[in-house]
Amino acid sequence: MVDPVLWDIGYLISASMFIVGIKRLSSPRTAPSGNRLGAQGMFLAVIITLLKLQSDGIIGWELIVTGLAIGSLIGYLMATKVEMTGMPELVALFNGFGGAASALVGLSEALKRITEGVPEPGVELYATWTAIGLSALVGWITLSGSLVAMMKLKGGFYVPLSKKDDRGRRRWISFPTWGPPWLNYVKVALLLSALLLIVLTIQEPEDKRWVYSLVATSTLLGILFVIPIGGADMPVVVSLLNSLSGIAAAFTGFVIGNNVLIIAGSMVGAAGLILTFIMCKAMNRELFDVLFKAFGGSGDRDQLTRTKVGSDPEEVAMVLDGAQKVIVVPGYGMAVSQSQHAVKEFADLMESLDCEVLYGIHPVAGRMPGHMNVLLAEANVPYEKLIEMSEINSEFPDCDVALVIGANDTTNPAARSGEGPLGGMPILDVDKASVVVIIKRSLSVGYAGVDNDLFYMDKTMMLFGDGKKMMNELNSAVKEI
Ligand code: NDP
Repeated sequence: MVDPVLWDIGYLISASMFIVGIKRLSSPRTAPSGNRLGAQGMFLAVIITLLKLQSDGIIGWELIVTGLAIGSLIGYLMATKVEMTGMPELVALFNGFGGAASALVGLSEALKRITEGVPEPGVELYATWTAIGLSALVGWITLSGSLVAMMKLKGGFYVPLSKKDDRGRRRWISFPTWGPPWLNYVKVALLLSALLLIVLTIQEPEDKRWVYSLVATSTLLGILFVIPIGGADMPVVVSLLNSLSGIAAAFTGFVIGNNVLIIAGSMVGAAGLILTFIMCKAMNRELFDVLFKAFGGSGDRDQLTRTKVGSDPEEVAMVLDGAQKVIVVPGYGMAVSQSQHAVKEFADLMESLDCEVLYGIHPVAGRMPGHMNVLLAEANVPYEKLIEMSEINSEFPDCDVALVIGANDTTNPAARSGEGPLGGMPILDVDKASVVVIIKRSLSVGYAGVDNDLFYMDKTMMLFGDGKKMMNELNSAVKEI
């Protein structure tokens, strides 16, 4: 039998590695090493926990090795198979897995205690069952909410085994954004019922029905909380779910008496909550409004009736000839077309012609926080050139060309009206540049489903086509200048 102090010392070391790792994430230069340190800290925590379980005789080596092998294989397959554009859905799914792990541990601890006999009423019973109840509530909400968020980010799903169309695709069902005003009363009623069920599990801890009812109520609550949220509010809900997965883990840490889970869960919970509030601020929304006054919007496609004649790369290159300042505004379409390297080549070309090139980064561009920063860093764009919205907006009025590559909602002047799915969201003021060049495949709407007046302005030149293809053609045309 190993001295339990040794396990605690191991946990303390891994918790310190998390803290230093997170601290190092605050700068792009130290972030990779911070990321590595956090992962090593987690690896250490997993190994210590498995050794502890084995030494206490709870599980044998066969189960440990089998679990590690299956988990590693699934993780490896997911990480290698996922497309860069599928990352946001994967992040949402991982949040859900975090919630599911906590929820399942909470459930098994509850059932174990019921089978083995619950303690006499007293502080131990109250504390343990409150922690079990809260980990179940938050864990199941996180799981079901994250699965809905994943579907919403994907836009829907192909029906397995359905008949394929002539392009070889199965039937596609769009995921709805649905939220009548009365739904808020249902959500509040469910939340109160869940809290009541936690009280009932404490009062009658031997009755399994309360536990199962809590699981069902929390799962339904997660679905109903996320279903009405869409459009510009999605980033907020994804970071909130991330925070909830950490909070659920921290409660589970209390249930099973695992200190490192309490520390790591609290850190994820706090970091996610900070990010949620940063996102709310960036979107000019209150968290309460996101959760209870959802705009909806995603998936409802406006019928487009207006037209616009497209330009060609040579015309755009002529406009770029002699430009002193160009601001590149990337969006989700840059991620889809993987055009970040071609964008960097464009910036190098323009800089060789003595033109200043900056990048305007909207906090919710793409489909996950920091999406554009990651892609542009991959293409070796210097971090100092990525300018946040609050700072870059003052630069647009004296910018010769704003090159919008695959961005739509984050540049849509309709947001200024305060109405609709984008209402009140601050945008990148690209319409204030002398000329706006927009690369996208069509005039279709962005994630929030709102038509964009920017496309139809006289000073806007549309380059219709796939982002990478058009950037490459533009680069060739610029070389001819
Ligand atoms: P949008 O989603 O508004 O628009 C992206 C545009 O990219 C589309 O209009 C599409 O037009 C174009 N596009 C798609 N594929 C290609 C391609 N291969 N080549 C060129 N263009 C392409 O993007 P934004 O980045 O401006 O806005 C992000 C939106 O996503 C916001 O509404 C935000 O709230 C939401 N969101 C953000 C999250 C985050 O954390 N960042 C999370 C969840 C949602 P076309 O089809 O004509 O090519």
